[in-house]
Amino acid sequence: MKVLVINCGSSSIKYQLYDMPAGNVLAKGLLERIGEPTSRLLHQARGAAHEIPCAAEDHVAGMETILATLASPDKGVMGAITEIGACGHRVVHGGEEFTGSVIIDGDVIASIERFADLAPLHNPPNLAGIRAARRELPDVPQIACFDTAFHATIPEVAYLYALPYALYEQYRIRRYGFHGTSHRYVARRAAALLGRDKYDINAITCHLGNGCSMAAVRGGRSADTSMGLTPLEGLVMGTRSGDFDPAILMYLAEKGMDTRRLNSLCNKESGLLGISGISNDMRNLAAQARNGERRAALAIDMFCYRVRKYIGAYTAVLGTLDAVVFTGGIGENSPLVREKSCGALAQIGIELDPEKNARPPAREADVAAAASRVRVLVIPTDEEAAIAQDTYALAQDKEQP
Ligand code: ADP
Repeated sequence: MKVLVINCGSSSIKYQLYDMPAGNVLAKGLLERIGEPTSRLLHQARGAAHEIPCAAEDHVAGMETILATLASPDKGVMGAITEIGACGHRVVHGGEEFTGSVIIDGDVIASIERFADLAPLHNPPNLAGIRAARRELPDVPQIACFDTAFHATIPEVAYLYALPYALYEQYRIRRYGFHGTSHRYVARRAAALLGRDKYDINAITCHLGNGCSMAAVRGGRSADTSMGLTPLEGLVMGTRSGDFDPAILMYLAEKGMDTRRLNSLCNKESGLLGISGISNDMRNLAAQARNGERRAALAIDMFCYRVRKYIGAYTAVLGTLDAVVFTGGIGENSPLVREKSCGALAQIGIELDPEKNARPPAREADVAAAASRVRVLVIPTDEEAAIAQDTYALAQDKEQP
């Protein structure tokens, strides 16, 4: 079955076409600048990359262009779009309602709409993609995979904030967590690598990309995670602050900053960028730190210190720990960050092998020392593959991975 995976932003559509159940990627691409006269489609298939100028006025027009390209004789990979058997959509916020991926119907759409209040930048474009795909592929099952769903198992003691309980009752203010598809994917891969059942592993999963979050996974299910009501909480990120004393916001409000300003300050001007004053990009900062830039080095140290703190916290939460898993652009590629985040933790059973950490021996690798009680795994995440697997499973009425 051919499965199309869609990830829509406000002005872009990312897609991958999978051959399932083998999981081979037949084609992938990105249509960007939707709504501008100079939209373009970057399309890859059969070993060739194409840049196709177009004028996609909205997501429906964008979807039409993508589907036509996938079925075109010269750049396509199928005879007709009717070969697509199911379509999976990334949806950021599923509120408290969705504990796994679901087949989309009118009720699901209404719920995603309702949760737009909690994810105003993400749910509306995700919905635009769903609507466009339903229109273009009306006979194909459409599946929604939520970033929040994996974290639906977090217990009340961890998801509630110690604010007046009425705020939870009235507004559903609580920890939801994000990157769930990635945390679940790497937790499942970790279990497979260690030869365990998917529900027989305790792990701390560290998704360190532009956005960063960690999860405590108990028995294959999320037991806690660092992001909260929104993706702002938790780790130091590219441009987000992560945890800080909320009284700082009140203090700055007293100084005259309004909510829009404060939002930009915490989400776009903080984190690695805010501390270094140079860049939100870890590779860049690592180079600058090697050149002796003090604040680039400080930003990296603060980033790793926060990861280390959460490793300690989640070790206590889990009680027993089988593996720490690093994923995301930074987690997969930065030996420096892994070393600073979990070096010298033999006290709690975590010991890196310096050689393996510096040069992981395989794409998915165990970089812990032979004697380490806890394994340290580097596992490239693949959210699209996870969405394709869920979509394929649901389209066939089977249990999702
Ligand atoms: P996104 O969250 O946007 O998907 P990624 O997961 O691709 O982002 O992560 C982007 C981050 O990964 C950037 O900070 C980038 O500098 C970092 N990164 C990528 N490659 C390396 C590397 N070799 N060493 C250190 N950091 C890297």
